[in-house]
Order: sequence, then structure tokens, then C-alpha cells
Amino acid sequence: MNRDEFLVKTAGIGIDLPAEAPEKLAVYMDLLIRRNQEFNLTAITDPEEIYEKHFYDSLYPLTDPRISGTVADVGTGAGFPGVVFAIARSDLKVILIDPTAKRCRFLEEIRKELKLNNVTVVNQRAEEYVKTKREQADVVIARAVASLPVLAELCVPLVRPGGYFISMKGTKGLEEYQQTEHAFQVLGIEHSEIREYTLPSGDGRTIITAEKTRITPGKYPRNYGQIKKKPL
Ligand code: SAM
Repeated sequence: MNRDEFLVKTAGIGIDLPAEAPEKLAVYMDLLIRRNQEFNLTAITDPEEIYEKHFYDSLYPLTDPRISGTVADVGTGAGFPGVVFAIARSDLKVILIDPTAKRCRFLEEIRKELKLNNVTVVNQRAEEYVKTKREQADVVIARAVASLPVLAELCVPLVRPGGYFISMKGTKGLEEYQQTEHAFQVLGIEHSEIREYTLPSGDGRTIITAEKTRITPGKYPRNYGQIKKKPL
């Protein structure tokens, strides 16, 4: 999808981008492609694919009006979906979390270049970050970071009661969702739902949205070795 098609499709799903967003996305793409070799940012380097698989896909969750306030993007990598959220919605306070120092340097460069005053870059693992920021985010989102039970244990402790954990998945989303019922219960989630959608080229995607109703017991998240070895 080229830039014009991207803008038409985005409007088609009800996302109203600010006037400066198309130019900011173009600058973001340019830097992503230019810095890719040095920082190992993305496997997708064709501009038309970036518009569809990174930008359009990252914007899609914003069709949900429950996304508001402070949004933490766990495992943001080169900034997906967090940087795209920050460009599209200046009212959001976006926290980009990633343990890779190189990627965080790139994110800082983007933040300065695009004057994204609503972005904070945090060079930490989610399990470290939670030690000082427990139950504070309105929304925690993650795209392509870990299997859903593992991801839930990393992310849900960061969400305030009454807030949301959102996971962006490919076609295996439903299968993973079905294996996460117990983890959600333990972590303080009463209600969750899955939504399927397709990118304009036909690739399938899923979004799992979980509403946190109770405080997460203090023993979670466990250390990463335990989480991986014995997912909830
Ligand atoms: N979300 C981006 C996207 O969709 O393009 C990046 C996905 S990349 C496959 C996974 C990212 O998760 C990597 O940048 C990695 O450093 C990060 N990550 C892995 N474990 C993490 C953890 N425990 N806490 C925070 N980030 C983590």
C-alpha cells in the first residue's frame, strides 16, 4: 500500500490522523530504512510493506476508544505500535520499553527528530520496569514479543485496576488466547475478548483485549527464567 492508499484505508477504519502525521510517518520510515543495518530494526524494508505491516497494523488498535491516558508499549523494538500511537494521538502519554540499548538509541533519535513530547523511552526489561511502576499504566500493549501466557505475566502487573492489557498477534492469536485463561485469572483479569481483522493484503491479525479488575498478586512477575519455563 502506498502513502495515499494508507491514508484512505486509515480513514476507512475511522482513524482521524492529525494534519502533520503523514509527514511525520514519512520521516520515521526514512530513518527506519536508513538506520536499519546499523541498529537491526526490522525485517520489513519495502516502503509499501512498511505502510501496511508496520504503520496500518500499528494504528489498528486505536479503533478501540478505550485506549487513552498512559500507554506502555512493552517490547516496542523499532517503535511498533508505540511511536505510531504517539504520532497519531498527541493526547496519549506513550512509554516505549525495550531492553535493547541500540533500539532505544534509535527511538531517542526518532523522539527528537519528530518532536514527540508525549514519548518516554525506557531501556529496561518489563520485569525490571515493573519494580518501580507497578499498576500505573492505563493501557499496556505489546506486539510480537512473546507467547500470550508469558506476555500476560510481564504486562498485566503494569496495568492499573480498571485499565487494559492489549496483545497484538498474528493468526495464532486464538490458540494462544485459549491457553491464557488461567494466567488471566491469576493476574487479575475477569473479562477479555479477541478480535480478528485482516490487513488490506489479506494477512490475518488478532487483538486480545483484557480488562484488569483486581490488583495482581505481588509475586508476579516471577523472574524471566521461571516465566518461560513454567508459564502460568
Ligand atoms: N513490538 C515490535 C514490533 O512489533 O515490531 C518489536 C517486536 S520484536 C520481535 C520483540 C521485542 O521485544 C524486541 O525488541 C525485544 O528486545 C523485546 N523484548 C524481549 N523481551 C522483553 C522483555 N522481557 N521486556 C521488554 N521487552 C522485551
